[in-house]
Amino acid sequence: MKSVYIHIPFCNNMCSYCDFTKLYYNKKFVEDYINSLEQEIINNYKNEIIETIYIGGGTPDSLSVLELEKLFNIIKIFKTNNLELTVECNVENICLEKLELFKKNNVNRLSIGVQTFNANLIKYLNRKHNKEEALKNISLAHTYIPNINIDLIYAVPGETIDDLEKDIDEFIKLDIEHISTYSLILEPHTKLYIDNTYNIDDDLDFKMYDLICSKLEKNNYNHYEISNFSKKGYESKHNLTYWNNNKYYGFGLGASGYINNTRYTNTKNIIDYNNKLYIKEQEELNLKNQMQEEMFLGLRKISGIDISLFKNKFNLNVEEVFDIEKLLKEKKLIKEKGFIKISKEYLYLSNDILINFVGE
Ligand code: SF4
Repeated sequence: MKSVYIHIPFCNNMCSYCDFTKLYYNKKFVEDYINSLEQEIINNYKNEIIETIYIGGGTPDSLSVLELEKLFNIIKIFKTNNLELTVECNVENICLEKLELFKKNNVNRLSIGVQTFNANLIKYLNRKHNKEEALKNISLAHTYIPNINIDLIYAVPGETIDDLEKDIDEFIKLDIEHISTYSLILEPHTKLYIDNTYNIDDDLDFKMYDLICSKLEKNNYNHYEISNFSKKGYESKHNLTYWNNNKYYGFGLGASGYINNTRYTNTKNIIDYNNKLYIKEQEELNLKNQMQEEMFLGLRKISGIDISLFKNKFNLNVEEVFDIEKLLKEKKLIKEKGFIKISKEYLYLSNDILINFVGE
C-alpha cells in the first residue's frame, strides 16, 4: 500500500458537464466533514509507508486557508517516503496565500482544472475563469510548484478542430510538465445531459484525439497512457498506482479504495459521511477478477502489460489465462520486448479492446 486518495467534495460553482461527487461549499459542512475525514483516516490507516497522496475533488482549494491548514495537519499522520503530494486546484482560486501554504506543506504537484482557454467553451462548460487570468495564475503557480498538470477537455459541442488546435498551442506554450485530456462525455444528471446536448460526430472526435497525440508528441510530451501526456520523468506516480492495479486507500465522500483484494466505495451522502457512516459498498475480488482488472487497467498504459510481472503477481502466464490470439492476429494488440500492448492505431478504439477483459 503506497497510495492515498483524499476527496474534498466542495465546489464554489457547478460545471455543466460534471458528475463527480460534489456539493456547494458550506462552512458548517466543511468543519464537520474535516473532522469526519480525520476519524476515517485514523480508523483505517495501518502505518504503511506512503509514496503518493492525491487530494482531489470537488475543488480542494475552495477551502479557506485555515481549513486547508487543518487538512494538511491531518495528513501528517502518514509515514512517507519520497512523497508525490498532489492537490487539485481550480485555476481561478489560485492565489499567493494558498500557494505559500501548499509549499510550506510539501505539496510538490498541482493538478489545475482549466479545460479550455476558449471563451465560448468556458461559458458552455460553466467554468468561471477567463484566459488572461488563467494564464497569469498558472505561471504564478509554476514558480512555486515545479510540477504542474493541466486538464484539457475536447469534443465539446460546437468546438472545431481550429478551436482545439488553439487550445493545445496555449497548453504547449505554458511549458507545464503534464497534460491530461478528456473527450467530453455526457453523463446522466449533468446539466448538459438534461438539456439534451448532442455528442459531436465520431469522425471529428477521432480527428481531435489524433491532433492532440501528434501535437503533444511533437512537442516532447511522452504519451504514456491513453489520455495522459508528460515530460520525461513527470508521469503521475499516483495515477500509475491505479493503472498498475496496485492497492490504495480512498478517504472521503464517495471515494473508492482497493485494500486486501477488496474494492470499496464510500457513501455519497454528506449527512451519513459526517455521521461517520463511511463505506457504502464493497466487493472482494476473486483471482479471475484481479487478473481481469490487471489487464483492463494495465492496457491503458502505452507500455502495456509486463508479461513477467503478471506471472510474478499471479503465478500464471497471461496468455494461458486470456485468449488474446485473435486480438494479436488482428493487430489490435501487439507483443513486443516482453510486453503486451494496444497498437498505436487502435488506441482511439481502446474501449472496444479493453471490453474483452471484463465479464464472468
Ligand atoms: S468539474 Fe470540478 S469544479 Fe466543476 S463542478 Fe465538477 S468538481 Fe466542481
